[in-house]
Amino acid sequence: MTDWHTLDQTYIMPTVRRLPIAIDKAEGNYLYDTEGNRYLDLFTGLAVNVLGHSHPAILRALRAQGERFLHISNLFLNPPAIRLAQRLVENSIPGKVYFANSGAESTEAAIKLIHKWTVKRGEGRDGIVVMKNSFHGRTLGALRLTRQPGVYQDFPQPDFPFYEVEPENIDELRRVCETHRPAAVLAEPIQGAGGVVPLSDAYLQEMARLCEQHGILLCMDEIQTGIGRTGKLFAYQHYGLQPDLILFAKGIGGGLPLGGIIAGEKLMDLFQPGDHGTTFAPSPLSAALGNAVLDVLFEEGQMEKGRETAEYLWSRLRELKERYPEIIHSVQGKGMMIGIRTNRSAEEIADWQKTLLKEGILFNVTAKTVIRLLPPLTLTREEVDLFIERMEQYMKRTFL
Ligand SMILES: *Cc1c(COP(=O)(O)O)cnc(C)c1O
Repeated sequence: MTDWHTLDQTYIMPTVRRLPIAIDKAEGNYLYDTEGNRYLDLFTGLAVNVLGHSHPAILRALRAQGERFLHISNLFLNPPAIRLAQRLVENSIPGKVYFANSGAESTEAAIKLIHKWTVKRGEGRDGIVVMKNSFHGRTLGALRLTRQPGVYQDFPQPDFPFYEVEPENIDELRRVCETHRPAAVLAEPIQGAGGVVPLSDAYLQEMARLCEQHGILLCMDEIQTGIGRTGKLFAYQHYGLQPDLILFAKGIGGGLPLGGIIAGEKLMDLFQPGDHGTTFAPSPLSAALGNAVLDVLFEEGQMEKGRETAEYLWSRLRELKERYPEIIHSVQGKGMMIGIRTNRSAEEIADWQKTLLKEGILFNVTAKTVIRLLPPLTLTREEVDLFIERMEQYMKRTFL
């Protein structure tokens, strides 16, 4: 049998500590490895596979668009992407979309657009306020090395100003907004990679109020929280906010790379031809899959169904926490984005993950001791029960 683990170590750089399973296929809410084992997927490729795997609507769209065209470049009108942009705008804020291929590229687009606003309308405001422990991507400086003045001259150097604030510290946020006159505040409504840490309703309201008061752009990174993950298309919609800029990616491509930003009325007309772009985005195939995702979420009621199953999962997790307070510290997040904060060590949680994986249940661990669940919205109650049962068995066996 092929030793995928050794081949991986020989030929692919170890930028991630990989789980030692080689995936052969994925179907519904399950992954299958090359040895025939099956795993309930509570990770969904890091919040990407919102509808699980091989959803019929996704496969239909894949085939239909695949037979038309895969790539045309952004020189042409691209019907699947135009339709997707219209639907994203109609279901969020009045504005326009710029498409990218990934989350980090969406962040790059946001930085450039905010900078353009700073120069044209910022009235001396500059820089972006971000939260401590935030995650917005990993790219570094391609524009710095591009030496065509027409391409780089209007945009900031990689060392543009930013201000890091402590989430939930309203006084600090107010002080930074008043003294530094930033152009924008950028926040994840629920920090994902930072440990599934939600911002409180009160803090988000105050953030929005300060932005309004000082003419600062309110920007939401919905790359992980978006596309139905928390029970609404975007998480900010739980709080009645009206952001100026929304970053999206992960779930929107139905499993293919796609990202972008939705720019509200203050920003939507700033980018002009030549200001920004990339070869592949918007991929017509990714956009067609994105439309299929929205069809299923909105027209087939999957967002509602996912919200109901999530409520059930939450109620069962709360029971677990009450029964095992010395193991489970708290359960945080919203909808199908859940962090089970434990009182155990990183090693204990790693063993926990490994053992449940052997029993056919895949969950993720973030911030060392937080069990992160990013289940598909297609999860069933029976699968919730199975997961809870296995969790409880493990805790009894191991910790009591
Ligand atoms: C994953 C993520 C990103 C980066 O997306 P990539 O597609 O990995 O570049 C940015 N922001 C948030 C909130 C994310 O979860």
